[in-house]
Amino acid sequence: MTEPFAAVDVIRAKRDKQVLTPEQIDWVVDAYTRGVVADEQMAALAMAILLNGMDRAEVARWTRAMIDTGRRLDWSSLGRPTADKHSTGGVGDKITLPLAPLVAACGAAVPQLSGRGLGHTGGTLDKLESIPGWRASLGPTQMLTQLREVGAVICAAGEDLAPADRKLYALRDVTGTVESVPLIASSIMSKKIAEGTSALVLDVKVGSGAFMKDRMIARLLAETMVELGTDSRVRTVALLTDMSTPLGLTAGNALEVAESIEVLAGGGPPDVVELTLALAREMLDAAGLADADPGQALRDGSAMDVWRRMISAQGGDPDAPLPAAAESDIVLAPADGVLVRIDALAVGVAAWRLGAGRSRKEDEVSAGAGVELHAKPGAAVRAGQPLLTLHADDPLRFEWARAALAEAVTVAPAGARPEVLPLVLERVG
Ligand code: URA
Repeated sequence: MTEPFAAVDVIRAKRDKQVLTPEQIDWVVDAYTRGVVADEQMAALAMAILLNGMDRAEVARWTRAMIDTGRRLDWSSLGRPTADKHSTGGVGDKITLPLAPLVAACGAAVPQLSGRGLGHTGGTLDKLESIPGWRASLGPTQMLTQLREVGAVICAAGEDLAPADRKLYALRDVTGTVESVPLIASSIMSKKIAEGTSALVLDVKVGSGAFMKDRMIARLLAETMVELGTDSRVRTVALLTDMSTPLGLTAGNALEVAESIEVLAGGGPPDVVELTLALAREMLDAAGLADADPGQALRDGSAMDVWRRMISAQGGDPDAPLPAAAESDIVLAPADGVLVRIDALAVGVAAWRLGAGRSRKEDEVSAGAGVELHAKPGAAVRAGQPLLTLHADDPLRFEWARAALAEAVTVAPAGARPEVLPLVLERVG
């Protein structure tokens, strides 16, 4: 087959700050997926995009071209509205776990296609895989049956969902081209639009433990994604939320599942409950179910009931004890006073070093490894009291994790007030 363009001309155009034509974009995305455009050519183009940007029309076309490389799921036969959320990733961010069954208990269907963790942020599938028997992999027919019978499904995205993004994301990961607003926005939104949800809430994290450390860039990313969703007739809103300190009191796979179950049982840390409810209200609103009361669904056990059925439907045993790591080590408060800071990135890196995350796609994660927090910013502490418990299967990992935590904690003299940001910083949409 003769190709209508040469990759080098598309690269040169973006290198020279030109706007790519719709035809160039459609071709380069498709040809890369077919293997006609080589990895080194796409890497050069991704770097040119990172440096010179893309305008609104280019990003929209790029997103559409990535969707068109695969299949688009369709839940219209369900007879009830669909709603999903996507988080850009944080430390201790287990919100999807209580949120999906909660929103389903309130009347929407939640088709959540999730990923695995890479680096210091955890992945929803890794967390759920700590539940004995639970399977991440489902076909579209099984998804549809589960959505009809249970209302919520959290599973791995199939190979045929935006395959261009799968290939491009892996390339960006190793070529220093992840941190580009147009590339991140099109990557996330191509998958979410192809997933077929009719309403989408984006949780864009800002702070040390997030991809986006800078609020202005996070806002730009949120605005870009909301526009892409809206253009594709997906009702989309975004919340910018703080990720300077870990969410809740745990970071690590089974530890986070246990904390999510506490939330579903009507308890759990206040910040996890607050964010779960804020995102649930946005999802229900976007799905046309603004009258539903997610607080009530947590209190009356209906969200827990959906959780149990959702886990069982995917082979998991909701009553099985969760795996625990073999060894633990306690980090003590260095002084009397007020805890004013626990840095999210440091805790995320420590959890990863303890075995909760992976550094290469093929690595196994440890289900029980991670970090437990015994206090959050604002708490009064005494020198020598336990501040963090580290969990790992291999005690040799403790020293490495402690090194990540060396500058993570600040205890100020009694009377000091931490600068605590509101959890929800802004709403875009
Ligand atoms: N998550 C994605 O799915 N894609 C990106 O580019 C970044 C985060």
